[in-house]
Amino acid sequence: MPINVVVVGAQWGDEGKGKIVDWLTESVQGVVRFNGGHNAGHTLVVNGKKTVVRIIPSGIMHPGVMCYIGNGAVVSPEAFLGEVDELEAAGVNAEARIRISGDCPLILPYHVKLDHARENALGDKKIGTTGRGIGPAYEDKVARRAIHVCDLLEPEMFAEKVRRNCKLINFLLTEYYKTEPVDVEKMITDTLALAPRITNKICDVSHTLNVLMAQGQQFLFEGAQGTMLDIDHGTYPFVTSSNTVAGTASPGAGVGPEKLNYILGITKAYCTRVGSGPFPTELFDEVGEELRKKGNEYGAVTGRPRRCGWFDGAALRRSVELNGLLGLAVMKLDVLDGLTTVKLGVGYECDGKRLDVMPVGAELVAKCIPIYEEFPGWSESTFGITEWDKLPENAKKYLKRLSEVAGAPLAVVSTGPDREQTILLKNPFE
Ligand code: IMP
Repeated sequence: MPINVVVVGAQWGDEGKGKIVDWLTESVQGVVRFNGGHNAGHTLVVNGKKTVVRIIPSGIMHPGVMCYIGNGAVVSPEAFLGEVDELEAAGVNAEARIRISGDCPLILPYHVKLDHARENALGDKKIGTTGRGIGPAYEDKVARRAIHVCDLLEPEMFAEKVRRNCKLINFLLTEYYKTEPVDVEKMITDTLALAPRITNKICDVSHTLNVLMAQGQQFLFEGAQGTMLDIDHGTYPFVTSSNTVAGTASPGAGVGPEKLNYILGITKAYCTRVGSGPFPTELFDEVGEELRKKGNEYGAVTGRPRRCGWFDGAALRRSVELNGLLGLAVMKLDVLDGLTTVKLGVGYECDGKRLDVMPVGAELVAKCIPIYEEFPGWSESTFGITEWDKLPENAKKYLKRLSEVAGAPLAVVSTGPDREQTILLKNPFE
């Protein structure tokens, strides 16, 4: 029986999904993106060479594998083609192996402009978005005025839809946000100039996946961002604008939920977050700074320094429930090497009550005071270790407890950025 695997970020994004997706891609014929846009940034290191993919699935680094962008994702023509060009220049044959659903809403320059205007207007209440126009593009989708990838096939209709939407947007930009309007005709001309290299990749992703699955092909569904940034279940309003939980792979790619056989959650051995919003286990001391430096915790897309903290078991427990995680991939264990003490969040004190699972909504999460268990650190290096038995005893104890608190078994432990620097405890495909 073919097995399809969904990989999702179990924290606030940037958990290191790219490495795991890239590695699991060896077992599949296709990799599918089903949410988000080029706000994601997946850093891959293959043979020591660093590459960042944003909207294109991380599986692209494997020459024989097809990459699909499902209807649940939002696509910026300019960013998408820029990425294709970058990959091609690096010797990756991306052009021929990408298929896009015609139903993907487009991200156009007016979305980016609106994203910036909104954030500026929010002042110190800003979300800290990536500024890529993601929110406004999903707003158009829900408001039923999105312009889709397939609209690029009909230039006149496309132009008409852009003009229609921009009447509203330019009114908002100039009258409400008191900023410059977008040049509508330039946007139409520029986008249509890019259209042929996008429309030649349009595919009925849903039907194609169903047909290929029936023929025995296996697929990997690659989630973007992280569970705590989910529009419904995250720390709202400090969230992204799409669902990020594993079940989204079904509507976001057009396959039935019974096709999603194994759900793998990716988490760091500690915790990070970019942008605003509550983060109970955040560290403001030198340990937080050490994690940032050692873990190179700077955004792959925006370069922003990431906020760093201890592993939050109560958040992970919520994540295990929301996604139905069957296994955890714990990344960047080596970043904790050399710490005298390692702390693990096992719950919170919130409004005088003890909670074992992260509560819902940013206001309550902001009130949570973490309850920690302390573990003696390990002085030995775990960098590059590939076998569980070779890990220091203290690291094993920490990982076992982490899995117990989260409520899901360990499937993978990552000990370095390279594909080989991995301990495999459970292969999702076996
Ligand atoms: P947006 O997705 O650009 O609208 O940003 C909304 C929130 O999600 C902000 O806090 C961003 O920092 C965060 N975010 C979006 N994409 C990512 C990601 O790939 N990794 C981590 N955080 C992200």
